[in-house]
Amino acid sequence: MTDVALSTLERVWGYSEFRAQQREIVDAVIAGRDALVLMPTGGGKSLCYQLPAIVREGTGIVISPLIALMQDQVAALEQLGVNAAFLNSSLDLDTRREVEARFLSGELDMLYLAPERLQASLPLLKRGRISLFAIDEAHCVSQWGHDFRPDYLGLGVIHEEWPDVPRIALTATATVQTRQEIASRLQLEDAEHFVSSFDRPNIQYRIVPKQRARDSLLRFIGSEHEGDAGIVYCLSRKSVEQTAEFLRKEGLDALPYHAGLTPEQRRFNQKRFLRDEGVVMCATIAFGMGIDKPDVRFVAHLDLPKSVEGYYQETGRAGRDGEPATAWLAYGLQDVVQQRRMIEQGEGDAFRQRQQSLHLDAMLALCETAGCRRQMLLGYFGEEAEPCGNCDNCLQPPETWDGTVPAQKLLSTIVRLDRATGRAYGAGAIIDILLGKRTERSAAQGHDQVSTFGIGTELNDAAWRSVVRQLLAMNIIAAVGEYGVMQLTPRGAEVLAGREPVELRKDVSAQVARSSRRAASAAAVEELQPAQLERFEALREWRRETAKAQSVPAYIVFNDSTLRAMAVDRPSTLTELAGVSGVGRAKLEQYGDEVLEVIASS
Ligand code: ADP
Ligand code: ZN
Repeated sequence: MTDVALSTLERVWGYSEFRAQQREIVDAVIAGRDALVLMPTGGGKSLCYQLPAIVREGTGIVISPLIALMQDQVAALEQLGVNAAFLNSSLDLDTRREVEARFLSGELDMLYLAPERLQASLPLLKRGRISLFAIDEAHCVSQWGHDFRPDYLGLGVIHEEWPDVPRIALTATATVQTRQEIASRLQLEDAEHFVSSFDRPNIQYRIVPKQRARDSLLRFIGSEHEGDAGIVYCLSRKSVEQTAEFLRKEGLDALPYHAGLTPEQRRFNQKRFLRDEGVVMCATIAFGMGIDKPDVRFVAHLDLPKSVEGYYQETGRAGRDGEPATAWLAYGLQDVVQQRRMIEQGEGDAFRQRQQSLHLDAMLALCETAGCRRQMLLGYFGEEAEPCGNCDNCLQPPETWDGTVPAQKLLSTIVRLDRATGRAYGAGAIIDILLGKRTERSAAQGHDQVSTFGIGTELNDAAWRSVVRQLLAMNIIAAVGEYGVMQLTPRGAEVLAGREPVELRKDVSAQVARSSRRAASAAAVEELQPAQLERFEALREWRRETAKAQSVPAYIVFNDSTLRAMAVDRPSTLTELAGVSGVGRAKLEQYGDEVLEVIASS
């Protein structure tokens, strides 16, 4: 018996094997069973419904909330020689009629449909032949999630109208709770659940102390990601604008993206990011959902994300193609103070504030851990893992030191200041006192005097800031009120009383950056020999022109790993070229000769 699934994978995509759970998922759907698929971004979800839709008789209906992406998804399928089309509000009447006719004639393997069009499309769908329903971004059905789409609640109709057609729901973001909600709302209780590990081994996680953040961002990009596409997340619109401006002045192709821009500007910038190579998008978190660009090589955060979930989702936009990518975060004392203040002064009631506060605590713990970042991240999502060897802490284990005495000095300064002046002070004033730059009395009276307490100290300003940051993260002190003034927590009282020791980590930003660059590049493009690199660049240039001529994103012509394999293997015949991973039959026919020519002449 021939293996239809495998032969389709080879013929259409040019891949020689399935990834992780793809095989079981594809088999289940081909056999007509329902499936609920949880796979991280870049895991290869699309193939799980596209392949069965090709194999099974009839048209696969794909419900996708991201209208902007449908066009690219359909274009990518057409490149693979698959008959696909989409129906959404952006189409004019003639085009819509044409798509409907193609669907009814049975010519389409796949039809993408916006959820809000489902109701109106029922009569049409009833007249055609349907092989399966795929519900992409299935977490949009969750009313508790941030991506809730009311139209998703209406998707139950599919099961009622087509009880015998298999359904496959897919998402990259789901806690156990969301998963249950998806299953019950979409009536997928009887579906097989396929839950992959959420690990993204190709992403290197790094968290550095924030010091002149934009300069260190520039150094990071310049030394490790020159010419690469990346996303830089900032908290405010203003900081988005300033960062983009700063990077542009330094010669980078940087663009801003935030809710304050006009829709046209946003569309234009997003399109540039998706279509052109090497664009750095400076953005608020408004940018991201549905950014299906596989070759984003880095995601940088200039401000602390509000939760580990948010951080994981945002960093997950790097390296969807499985090639090495970096998640880089600069984090400082001011972030903690500012976010605590935002929570306290926010709209939320006490319950919500408590939730936000717990989210922040988890994020701080991740920043301050001396252990493996990935282990902690995955642990947060309920997965156990070994230390990864590909995060800053694994690559360069931070030294820890006994910080009990400095912590006590700091705590007692807070207590005595409060006693002497009847009020609390911010981190800056307290550090000045610890450094002997100001005295407690001068702080109280508003002018400088000679130090009366004589707190001698071996720590400098940066070291004290690191101590304060870590004590905040450990909930030994708290930043409260409008000005983020320092207070002792119950745990702080224990430390001050000598009943609890304090273990602190040393900041190691500079060395980490250097050593991890070597580790990152070991697997990356630099591995190519000079001649191969030249071929790779020539192929990239050819791809750029080819994509431009068809106005499609470059990666759907061939992705980077396929181009790299071509540069290394140096095929000289069509048969050899067909053996390269990512070269299926349609692309071989369409591009084979041109590619061989580029390779031969470079
Ligand atoms: P997701 O939708 O889960 O984010 P995609 O479906 O976009 O992920 O797949 C990510 C990348 O992995 C794509 O470039 C895709 O072509 C590639 N890919 C998927 N399955 C395989 C496979 N079996 N072998 C090689 N590459 C694959
Ligand atoms: Zn690690």
